[in-house]
Amino acid sequence: MRDIDELFAALRRSKFRSGFKLRSKESQYLEQKGLAEILEHARGFVVERLGPEEPANDGKQTPMKNHPVFIAQHATGSCCRKCLEKWHRIPKGKALTEKQIEYIVSVIERWLKTAQNKSGG
Ligand SMILES: [Zn+2]
Repeated sequence: MRDIDELFAALRRSKFRSGFKLRSKESQYLEQKGLAEILEHARGFVVERLGPEEPANDGKQTPMKNHPVFIAQHATGSCCRKCLEKWHRIPKGKALTEKQIEYIVSVIERWLKTAQNKSGG
């Protein structure tokens, strides 16, 4: 796992990762549900879609739209096990630990908070 400030500095240098933004529907959904509930969804996605040793459809398990957490995952390199290894130094081929899950959720939280502020809400 990586220092979160260092991670966000690196993400800002990536044209691809820094290009992800919440669309108005996703941003509204975040407003409606509230951050706490959205982070529960985040935890569920991380556990189910990234947690196993060999996740199903790895590399394609995170859609590009329709949920604010999916956007946050792409924006932070938390979309698949390959990206988790590259961006977060979390090795592939091993089930995620509770600590790693907490860390990924906190990365998603930080991105969503910034995105929420940018959208003016
Ligand atoms: Zn990925």
